Amino acid sequence: MILIILHTLMEQRRSFIKDLLQSTDVDRDINAKGWVRTKRGNKQVAFVALNDGSTINNIQIVIDIANFDEDQIKNITTGASISVNGTLVKSMGKGQSVEIQAKEIKIYGTADPETYPLQKKGHTLEFLREIAHLRFRTNTFGAIFRIRHAMSFAVHKYFNDRNFYYLHTPIVTGSDAEGAGEMFRVSTLDMKNPPKTEDGEIDFSEDFFGKETNLTVSGQLEAELGATALSNVYTFGPTFRAENSNTPRHLAEFWMIEPEMAFYDIDDDMDLAEDFLKYLIKYALENCKDDLEFLNKMYDNELIERLNSVVENKFERITYTEAIDVLLKADQKFEFPIKWGSDLQSEHERYLVEKYYKKPVMVSDYPKIIKAFYMKQNDDGKTVRALDVLFPRIGEIIGGSQREEVYEKLLDRIKEMGIPEKDMWWYLETRKFGTVPHSGFGLGFERLILFVTGMSNIRDVIPFPRTPKNAEF
Ligand code: ATP
Ligand code: MN
Repeated sequence: MILIILHTLMEQRRSFIKDLLQSTDVDRDINAKGWVRTKRGNKQVAFVALNDGSTINNIQIVIDIANFDEDQIKNITTGASISVNGTLVKSMGKGQSVEIQAKEIKIYGTADPETYPLQKKGHTLEFLREIAHLRFRTNTFGAIFRIRHAMSFAVHKYFNDRNFYYLHTPIVTGSDAEGAGEMFRVSTLDMKNPPKTEDGEIDFSEDFFGKETNLTVSGQLEAELGATALSNVYTFGPTFRAENSNTPRHLAEFWMIEPEMAFYDIDDDMDLAEDFLKYLIKYALENCKDDLEFLNKMYDNELIERLNSVVENKFERITYTEAIDVLLKADQKFEFPIKWGSDLQSEHERYLVEKYYKKPVMVSDYPKIIKAFYMKQNDDGKTVRALDVLFPRIGEIIGGSQREEVYEKLLDRIKEMGIPEKDMWWYLETRKFGTVPHSGFGLGFERLILFVTGMSNIRDVIPFPRTPKNAEF
């Protein structure tokens, strides 16, 4: 008895549309909240498609107009936010199994049809980038950001299930030896009137940290410190590169996943990279079905097929030298001519993956002159144990290596490359005390999301892209 009274006194608890649409428990009172996508109907009845972001699918609200105030119905337009009390019923119409017979509707916020930018018609992705504050409300971006969330959850699950520890490496870094690209300076000095040294240089000893600092380009060096005690660690955080690369695959601020493993050689590293990528893609196929089907239908008819084929096929493993041989024999002219010693450009990577092997390719053992100082040197004196994973449509999705664990060799390389030794003392000490073979890699999170969603521009897979001359929102 008390329970029944309580029940009628309480406002119905809000249900998510995703759960309502899957429910077989009909003819019960429910509450749903969300944003109106469309309204249609006639003088007697209105049909509202409501979405709350929990799924790509809308729920249909059936409004018997005679029971409602006319003004209220008028205000239920595309973009308006509402709360509906009603009965979940089996749907008579096509396209949905259940719908809501409305009893009571509360309007939280109206959206003026004259000015609300997201009317029913399709918008270009370019236009939606200009209204990134509202683009979450479209089917496309709802799907993309649900998938992005699922992938980030799967990253943590994968590592947690395999004895990896999530290590938070610093965003502000005092080492400029990461060597992965141009950096953004972090400073509180007065830009108009910075303190100067006797030689007229800017005096960074007066700066906030007492030295030059930048935003990190990679958490790898610090992750290595963690791995030499915790065995397996990973970082997953924002990284920053001040390169002026205006391409569909580069951001100035992007998220990177960097596992680092003690007692791993480059073959172990490759095994992990392949298993990890397949796990993530499989996770998306199993957990983001509706969203992937939508993207497959709207943007890329081969998306799901491509994802399945990556999961099912073994990646090709070749050396850089083998890759060059294939490229030199290619029946295609490249914009950048290729020879042993030059870095692979995107066109070369895509030739290998899309035209030649027709599957993901792992390229290892690059010339040491084009790779970072910390990579393990091979006995040939020319190559290092670097590893790139190349994907269809993306090119490089992962860059990694076995790290040089021999103190003298690492020090030689640091000197050869003109890296200030005094900045690297802490890194070098891991090779002095209890050094171990170890390896790791960096997966660009947005490149993964590009691949999984089938989108073509990296600006569309991060909520608020930062690119040269653009930091809006
Ligand atoms: P690229 O040659 O494509 O510019 P890179 O070799 O400079 O990349 P790494 O330093 O190896 O990149 O970084 C590891 C991974 O991070 C890359 O494999 C890629 O997935 C991702 N990545 C690198 N730079 C960017 C960027 N500017 N925007 C988004 N992702 C990036
Ligand atoms: Mn790389």
